[in-house]
Amino acid sequence: MENRDIVIVGAGIIGLSIAWQLARRSGLKITVLEKGAGIGEGSTGASSAICRHRYTLDDMVLLARDGINAYRNWQDFTRLSDPAAEFHNEGVLWMPGDDATWADQEHERMNQIGIATEVLDSQGMAERFPALNNCTITPDTETGQEHECNDNGRNLFEVDGGYVDPVLATQDLLNASRAAGVDVRFRAAVDSVSLGGGKVSGVKLASGDEISAPLVVNAAGPWCMGLYQSVELDIGWPLDPVRIQIVYRDRPPELEGHIPITADMGGGIYFRTQNRGAQLLVGSVLEEDEEEVVSDPDQFQTETDHEFEMVKLHLLHHRLPTLSYSSRIRGYCGLYTVNRADQHPILGPTPVDGLWAANGFSGHGFKLAPAVGGMLAAAITGNASDYDPEVGMDLFSFDRQPIKIDTRSALA
Ligand SMILES: Cc1cc2nc3c(=O)[nH]c(=O)nc-3n(C[C@H](O)[C@H](O)[C@H](O)COP(=O)(O)OP(=O)(O)OC[C@H]3O[C@@H](n4cnc5c(N)ncnc54)[C@H](O)[C@@H]3O)c2cc1C
Repeated sequence: MENRDIVIVGAGIIGLSIAWQLARRSGLKITVLEKGAGIGEGSTGASSAICRHRYTLDDMVLLARDGINAYRNWQDFTRLSDPAAEFHNEGVLWMPGDDATWADQEHERMNQIGIATEVLDSQGMAERFPALNNCTITPDTETGQEHECNDNGRNLFEVDGGYVDPVLATQDLLNASRAAGVDVRFRAAVDSVSLGGGKVSGVKLASGDEISAPLVVNAAGPWCMGLYQSVELDIGWPLDPVRIQIVYRDRPPELEGHIPITADMGGGIYFRTQNRGAQLLVGSVLEEDEEEVVSDPDQFQTETDHEFEMVKLHLLHHRLPTLSYSSRIRGYCGLYTVNRADQHPILGPTPVDGLWAANGFSGHGFKLAPAVGGMLAAAITGNASDYDPEVGMDLFSFDRQPIKIDTRSALA
């Protein structure tokens, strides 16, 4: 039987971030096992990969900052001479609708934490983002009744937010990890975690092969519960694989001006450009759009619902009034794992000695991945490294009480 120091199950952005963060500070023998034929087969491949700093919890703001800092310095972080991914620094605009005080309060809080933000009133919006409608009225998507738009919005702009192509970033981490000696295998589904003497002794693959290792990290994304079930661990955390819909369409040339990543909190959508500005991608920030739990993550509806497309595009047109209705609408669905208890991940040791968790990212995992990788790698090896987060792993420990949050949606 092969002997390794650590087996990581899953080669998504989380599994490969952990692998790379371990490799860049240790000489441990690391194997990453991925059931898919390549990268991007799980949540990561469908991710909108928005890197925003603002969270309800100050520690989450710091963790997001540290993850985003790695993406902003990607070549240095990955130590690749020519990484494929790049940080698109579009900025993130938060539009709180008719709440006239939110932007100023959050501006104050973000600046105290050290995150650069600005408050944009109607003049600032017109100068910076002329294509965007600054109306504070939420369109009535039930009846379709029209309203006279106002220009009263008072919005928060995160200067250093952006997005990254999630598959390219994962590919870079794969290349960096392999160059540092990490063994990454595809078409290598893990059937179960093996135990011996009450602790982890390795994994058994679906092929029948076995690998021995004293430490196994569960980074299996929406499939994570299968590994816990294989050792009959009742984790007590409600981690649901949930179907998430995204629609996109071409951006017509007449829609001019910079369009930042936008969270339309009143309307309940977010949008950003992709393909170097040639397309517009739209998703939801509503809890009601995170309700469709799938029983088998290998089998779910990957096409978007017509109703979802119509409602979200109607809301997009409210924000971008000069956007024509002419182009083709397309969509896709992905899965992410929602931690219903508090929308935050579970990280670190579980009650099974040698089995570690990195699950339940609830729609936040992409931006956090480099920092989460650093957190776990520092805890496993005892070695610090550059890009390590300031926030300790205890906040997300298996035996914590659920974190108190204001909103149970992607905007937590
Ligand atoms: C539509 C959508 C939009 C999103 N938008 C954002 C966003 O804007 N910003 C943000 O920060 N986050 C966002 N997220 C969330 C983010 O993408 C996820 O939190 C993150 O990708 C999770 O990564 P992961 O590695 O844990 O999971 P995954 O990418 O799912 O990786 C897990 C891997 O494990 C493999 N695996 C599973 N079981 C086994 C097994 N038994 N044996 C071997 N391999 C196994 C799977 O094949 C998979 O490749 C979004 C997600 C979705 C779906």
